[in-house]
Amino acid sequence: MTDGPDQAEIARVRDLLGAARHVACLTGAGISAASGVPTYRGAHTGRTVGGALWDGLRVEDWATPAGYARDPQRVWKWYSDRRVQLGELAPNAGHVALAELEKRLTARGGAFTLATQNIDALHQRAGSVNVLALHGSLLRIRCSVCPYRREVGHEPIAAIPACPDCGARLRPDVVWFGEMLPQDVWTAAADAAGDCDVFLTAGTSAVVYPAAGLVEIAAATGATTVEVNLEPTPASSLVDVALQGPADELLPQLVA
Ligand SMILES: [Zn+2]
Repeated sequence: MTDGPDQAEIARVRDLLGAARHVACLTGAGISAASGVPTYRGAHTGRTVGGALWDGLRVEDWATPAGYARDPQRVWKWYSDRRVQLGELAPNAGHVALAELEKRLTARGGAFTLATQNIDALHQRAGSVNVLALHGSLLRIRCSVCPYRREVGHEPIAAIPACPDCGARLRPDVVWFGEMLPQDVWTAAADAAGDCDVFLTAGTSAVVYPAAGLVEIAAATGATTVEVNLEPTPASSLVDVALQGPADELLPQLVA
């Protein structure tokens, strides 16, 4: 590690955010690391995670619709346990800074859109309102057949509930391997990327599609692109400003 990014770069981003009409943001696992969220991201993102094993199985083998059909109780329990664990964790200063940024923008008639790859719902708990959960949420369950879905809390749900509308098995409302992102959520994120003045990525390399497409949309429509990540990523050379450091330390400085 170096001694952190240049103060002049931080001041530049702070000014950009202060003057922006619409800020769009994309966050990933890196922003939740300081909250102690375990790295189970591979279980829902549809990308390959080398060496991610669960009871000797690769996540690609069970975090799929077929895996759920094969052993529903086991997969259900895995997500239920993660949901209970989340109740013991709290948002960190990075989540809080983004919620604060949204509050300020909306107070002066601006807009803020937060797209996240995380399923931990910590942005919402920190106070963010306009959140697009690209990969779904651990705090929602839905029907495997019809459009029924509902919010759930952190209490354990041992038995898999049946859908009150059609009777089919409910499932975690997360995006599994081989599944498409929810179309309405993706469209809203792409629209925001195309409309914003500043596009900020935090805690994600943003090089994996389709999320990487958001940075490209933003850049193509003239937004200033800013990356906040612990380490340089393949996107670092493509963005206008790349800041290296922990999101929970850098984001509060950018919003100060
Ligand atoms: Zn149903």
